Amino acid sequence: MALRKVLLEGDSSLRKKSREVTDFDQRTQELIDDMFDTMRAEDGIGLAAPQVGVLKRIFVMDAVEDNEATAFINPVLLDEKGEQTGAEGCLSLPGLYGIVSRPEEIRVRAQDITGKEFERTYSGLEARCVCHEIDHLYGILYRDRATGGLHKLDAEEDEDGSREDSGKKEPAAKRVDANA
Ligand SMILES: [Zn+2]
Repeated sequence: MALRKVLLEGDSSLRKKSREVTDFDQRTQELIDDMFDTMRAEDGIGLAAPQVGVLKRIFVMDAVEDNEATAFINPVLLDEKGEQTGAEGCLSLPGLYGIVSRPEEIRVRAQDITGKEFERTYSGLEARCVCHEIDHLYGILYRDRATGGLHKLDAEEDEDGSREDSGKKEPAAKRVDANA
């Protein structure tokens, strides 16, 4: 197990476009293994290669619903349907969240570590995660898409500024499912 350093917003690598992967070799496998380890150590559900300073079109997503944890090499969005609006976070912008609209359902094509192509359909949180990660491969951060700017996770107040009974209040962190 090897952990990589997650780059934070402000690092120029996060704003660069990643390159197509052409080598399906041991080095790529090691990168993917490290990305899974790093994502889990950071408590994320997804992680894109540029977030660890590698400008290659690769991202990983953990098993968040019924699907298994998957690595996506050279991913392409084939189709998107509907819309969902909700809270989103990013390991490269720790302690923050924002409200982002994403497709409710997407279909993605990618290659696995052997170079074989596969296609998957995802909805809900996983669809949100795939879109967030593919954005990373183009140097796009969710800040660019957030409506009303980003908010601090430890803010005690609700979006409308009202306070709830603190006994019933969930930590703000719980409201952000998509740290990716
Ligand atoms: Zn992210």
